[in-house]
Amino acid sequence: MSNVVERYSSGITLSESDSVWVLKGSYNAMQSIIPLLKTQKVWKYNGFSQSWEATKAKISNVKLNDVKAALSGAEVTSKENFSRFEEKARTLTLPQTTITIKTEAIFIKTTLIDLKDLAKAAGVTESAYAFYGYMFTPGKINVEKSLKLLGELEKAAALYMTKIDELEKLVKNQTQGTGIRVSVTAGIVYVMGETYPHKDKICKCGFGFSSGQWQAHVINVNLSSLRTFLAELPKKEVKDTPAPSKSGRQSNSKSGKCTVCGFTVEVGDGYISQIFDDDEERHLWVVRHKDPNVCESNKVTLRTRAEAAKKRSDAQRRLRSLLVKPEYYVEGRNLQPEGQQISLDHNPLALGGGCRLIVEPDLVHVWYVQSNGNDGDDWSHNNIGFTDIGWRSSLTTEVEALIEELTGIKVR
Ligand SMILES: [Zn+2]
Repeated sequence: MSNVVERYSSGITLSESDSVWVLKGSYNAMQSIIPLLKTQKVWKYNGFSQSWEATKAKISNVKLNDVKAALSGAEVTSKENFSRFEEKARTLTLPQTTITIKTEAIFIKTTLIDLKDLAKAAGVTESAYAFYGYMFTPGKINVEKSLKLLGELEKAAALYMTKIDELEKLVKNQTQGTGIRVSVTAGIVYVMGETYPHKDKICKCGFGFSSGQWQAHVINVNLSSLRTFLAELPKKEVKDTPAPSKSGRQSNSKSGKCTVCGFTVEVGDGYISQIFDDDEERHLWVVRHKDPNVCESNKVTLRTRAEAAKKRSDAQRRLRSLLVKPEYYVEGRNLQPEGQQISLDHNPLALGGGCRLIVEPDLVHVWYVQSNGNDGDDWSHNNIGFTDIGWRSSLTTEVEALIEELTGIKVR
């Protein structure tokens, strides 16, 4: 067993056991020190532990200190170099790219170009790709190659800006009425609509078909081919009725709102189709129930509900018009009236909420009481306690009937 004596920021460790010194580090980190180890002639590479070992009896303190100094020196140099990289990284503002500078590392995430090979050459660790993009750490990266990578990114960014400019000019109005639409989202160009007859040409423009869509990174779009393709597209009447999908009738794999009845179509219960949305100028997938009878019965349900709601709000309005009149307003500050309380708030939105009736015990008078105690209400008219306004009138047979209709309560 050996104990770590020194740990350098390059990741190299110097350990000792009873009889040997052991140097261990990543392949990249070790490159700078290996020439010195070879010169000293006392270090042997141990292929099993992937480390360099020197027998204590054979290595002088001078030689060991040289190695330590070189490793610390490399540390200083690598930090100095890294600050060059950091300085450069700070000056960059690139589209489709985030550069996050932290004390111990710089993270670069980009969709501009595939940096994998460049990053690998620069010494970026593979595991970092997935989470942060590319992680650059002092001592672990090759600064020159990392700088080169930033240069490539800058070039890609310049190309991207030029292309996106041209793309925007190109697709405006060019696709109107052709059944084809080109759009750019987050650095990706999509070609949508009736693409099937044109698939070869779309391929030639640099697009690939994946996840059910034609797409290409802005940088990979062949602009001149795209220009030709769009110019050649025949203009025609835009369809506004659902067209069956090209592969026949397809079941829905997601739930959605039925275009016929408006009710939810559960997965597998509907057919999907594409329509052209004039407002958004693009094709949309829509779904409808497979069984037209389902839509019909849903429509009946909707109509019934709408009729019931209308009847109810008519009754509420009628009741209010009967009970709320200036002459029924009771002046002064009154106590809560005694009697049977009947809430009218099944549908609070219809009357502004907080409405109730109080039928006096003798069944001759009825109060219409409305809450009015919220901030922003005008409290000056509150005549019941501090928070309510009340109107007192006669309990007529029409009022009784309306109460029963709205609440199911027979007061008599
Ligand atoms: Zn339906």
